[in-house]
Amino acid sequence: MGPDKVQRNLLITGGSRGIGAATARLAAASGWDVAINYTRDAEAAQAVARDVQALGRRAVALQADVASEADVCRLFAQAQAALGPLHGLVANAGIVAMKARLDEMPVERLQRMLDVNVLGSWLCAREAVKCMSTRHGGRGGSIVLLGSVASVLGSGGMYVDYASSKGAIDTFTIGLAREVATEGLRVNAVRPGIIDTEIHADSGDAQRAFKSADVIPMQRPGTADEVANAIVWLLSPAASYVTGAVLAVSGGR
Ligand code: NAP
Repeated sequence: MGPDKVQRNLLITGGSRGIGAATARLAAASGWDVAINYTRDAEAAQAVARDVQALGRRAVALQADVASEADVCRLFAQAQAALGPLHGLVANAGIVAMKARLDEMPVERLQRMLDVNVLGSWLCAREAVKCMSTRHGGRGGSIVLLGSVASVLGSGGMYVDYASSKGAIDTFTIGLAREVATEGLRVNAVRPGIIDTEIHADSGDAQRAFKSADVIPMQRPGTADEVANAIVWLLSPAASYVTGAVLAVSGGR
């Protein structure tokens, strides 16, 4: 039975724009009902929810900071109250910060990078395991985490804090996949290259994606939809034997 024939409920963190919003729309088109998390921009999240509903699926927009354990626990409770049991998590919420050397980075920046990108992914995956693992009475499911090509390039002189936070995601994906492999749960990551979203404005150059074309073998940035397609495939039964994989979506970079 394909995903169109069964009810499937998906939570996407950071779903109000960029890769998360594209994933919400594509997942809805593949038959998922979607809980869309955001931190600041409620109207943007509501607009994505309306797009999902226009595709005939259920949607809810939920505010939560993934760096807060209390927020994450409330997010999972509210998502399941609205949609029913979850079958998928896309741990997509992530931040960058201004281009800088390590010796220029204040501890507040380093702490926030760890809290959102690493602790946030751990907390959301932990709650997803509690909801979906057969060990906890769940019916299984799929977790997709957001890594980055930065984890293998290191991003020296740009943002080594961000790059190494994504290195943690690579390792976490492999370990958690093996930990829950017999519990009906698959855990994978996508590793985007340079994707045309609003995130680059936060590193100080909103045009970075297009300015970077000459360092990308395919000579162009990727689109949020191109990453979302890989995420939705990893979520789907078509990827039933794929777990612990980190899939590059990077134009060859
Ligand atoms: P984006 O356009 O900046 O969108 C980020 C999303 O995350 C927004 O919906 C934002 O919501 C939400 N968010 C931020 N902090 C959050 C928090 N603490 N708790 C909950 N939600 C939070 O980013 P993107 O480019 O789509 O990137 C998505 C993921 O892909 C990130 O993990 C990023 O590191 C990864 N990635 C991106 C690229 C790229 O080139 N774009 C490359 C490699 C990896 P609000 O707007 O409401 O705050």
